[in-house]
Amino acid sequence: SSSATDSKDLRAKLVLLGDSGVGKSCIVLRFVRGQFDPTSKVTVGASFLSQTLALEDSTIVKFEIWDTAGQERYAALAPLYYRGAAAAIVVYDITSPESFSKAQYWVKELQKHGSPGIVMVLVGNKADLHENRSVSSQDAQEYAEKNNMFFIETSAKTADNINQLFEEIAKRLPRPTA
Ligand code: GDP
Ligand code: MG
Repeated sequence: SSSATDSKDLRAKLVLLGDSGVGKSCIVLRFVRGQFDPTSKVTVGASFLSQTLALEDSTIVKFEIWDTAGQERYAALAPLYYRGAAAAIVVYDITSPESFSKAQYWVKELQKHGSPGIVMVLVGNKADLHENRSVSSQDAQEYAEKNNMFFIETSAKTADNINQLFEEIAKRLPRPTA
């Protein structure tokens, strides 16, 4: 069959949540365009970027990735943003305990108001800044396990674990039963 109509192909809305400045936009641009630009204001805005990923079992996953245009500052707007999302990446900065607390707030929000069965992943970004680390990997891993989330540390700057992050999400998406 042609790949465009293959029943194994998946399409998934994916959103990113987390404090301003933790690197959400940089993670998206690293994954979609393979770039990191420390000088640009990279927030993508209201529309989405899409990127496909081929899995080992030959499933093609098409991510429709929504980046916030600063909605993370307005908790009341968030449900409009994550409505219908199949997956959510909750991001904190490993050098910022405040951003880890905020990530936990977003996890609770998604548990209360997200789509049932939404795939949630906890991401500690800016792993390249390990000399200034102030959130331990172990604390984050334990929190993630308690909340049934996959946990990974990434660097949008060095590209470390960025593709792995999206592959792990793709593997966890529910497969059509037909
Ligand atoms: P957002 O507000 O969550 O979308 O954050 P941005 O993607 O706009 O990134 C905020 C700032 O963090 C920018 O100055 C980026 O250059 C920087 N940044 C993002 N990811 C990383 C990373 O992995 N490592 C380092 N060192 N800086 C990063
Ligand atoms: Mg942004």
